[in-house]
Amino acid sequence: MAALPLADTALACPHCHHRVAAPPQGSQARTRWLCPRCGGALGQALDASQRLALGVWAGCTLVLLALAQGLPFLSLTVLGETNTVSVAGMAVHLLEGDYPVLGLIYVLFVEALPLLLSALALAWLALLPRTNTTSAPSWRQTALVLVTHWLVRLRPWCMNDIFIVSVLVALVKVVSYGQVGFGGGFVLVALAAMATLPLQLRIAPARLWPLVAQVPEPPSSGPGSPGPAFACRDCHAWLPAGSRRCPRCHSRPQRPRAPHAALALLLTSALLYVPANALTMMSATLAGNSKDTNIMEGVAVLWGTGSAPIALIVFVASIVIPIAKMLALLWLCVQLWPERVPRDAQRAHRVHQLHRWVEWIGRWSMMDVFVVITLSALVDRGALMAVSPGWGSLWFAAVVWLTMWSALLLQPHSLWQRLPKTPDPAAAPSVRPPSSAASAPS
Ligand SMILES: [Zn+2]
Ligand SMILES: [Zn+2]
Repeated sequence: MAALPLADTALACPHCHHRVAAPPQGSQARTRWLCPRCGGALGQALDASQRLALGVWAGCTLVLLALAQGLPFLSLTVLGETNTVSVAGMAVHLLEGDYPVLGLIYVLFVEALPLLLSALALAWLALLPRTNTTSAPSWRQTALVLVTHWLVRLRPWCMNDIFIVSVLVALVKVVSYGQVGFGGGFVLVALAAMATLPLQLRIAPARLWPLVAQVPEPPSSGPGSPGPAFACRDCHAWLPAGSRRCPRCHSRPQRPRAPHAALALLLTSALLYVPANALTMMSATLAGNSKDTNIMEGVAVLWGTGSAPIALIVFVASIVIPIAKMLALLWLCVQLWPERVPRDAQRAHRVHQLHRWVEWIGRWSMMDVFVVITLSALVDRGALMAVSPGWGSLWFAAVVWLTMWSALLLQPHSLWQRLPKTPDPAAAPSVRPPSSAASAPS
């Protein structure tokens, strides 16, 4: 793959939008470049080997998931009778049942989005200009911009890794009732989930956008200039004051949004968390007797049957993380309120770290929903033994999405911009060797 010499000479830190000189071209790919103001990882444009790895992981995800569809996923043998579900059969079973919304959740987050993300990654590589001297046709550049936008947007919503962990948790619940068998589909879906992780790591605005197009350095502000240059919210290009549209990603570089919408989503999720906990999460039928359990009752059943570690995992994922996440989001909304003036850089640091934590941990709360989805597809033996989802699972899924969406709307960089100016506005990034790097990838 030919090396692309495209790169910005100055860029905005993706975390605090501080202007920094771009890492020198040809610098070590594994060197971590850190923002001198917030200490966040700056990220470099993907080099040739990283672009090759992106293509390999995307291809693996696509092929493995496509091959898995017709293969058996799991089987459960009870009293000599075996119920086998295939990967595609799980979706059909759920969509044709009483809770098609859960079927849609499975199809969307576990199947469609990972497939779409890997297909878009391959399309992105195919659309990239071969060299910076080649002027690409306008349709190609427009398609490249569109694909880059969607790659970055879809990345947090792929949940096939969480699904595989959830399947293992679900199996602990049924292993005492019958014999569980793993099909070829399970192996392929698990391998695809492992391939999606390095794929997601490479899909970051700071790594993709510099290769899409180079943005000219805006003139430095001085007497008579319209004001200071600022960062594009989507691609982090450094733009002249007064820009109405980013020349690279074509988005409107508006002022930082107030966190009103994030707070509204958070309050809605807090309201929905009440029925999510009170209503039935799943209903289990054994030898004609039906028993409804909500989240806490499910944890108690697991604890009572000797599966304490799994009970603890479900308790943390379904109770501790959602509550901690909602409290953290509330604190973030208060800290990022427009009128609030931050006291110091340390406060901004704490806000920043907490926001990264909320973004990272938020999706893992979907685990309990995936456990219900797996059990209801696998345990389906009519009056003898069956599991069906309850309304609580739908409300709980809504809580997870709303809190994830709320976190995505918050813009912690706005807090840094309200701080008194401290470092040199064109400071060079600091370098940290890979072994001691502590910051999360951008
Ligand atoms: Zn920064
Ligand atoms: Zn932009």
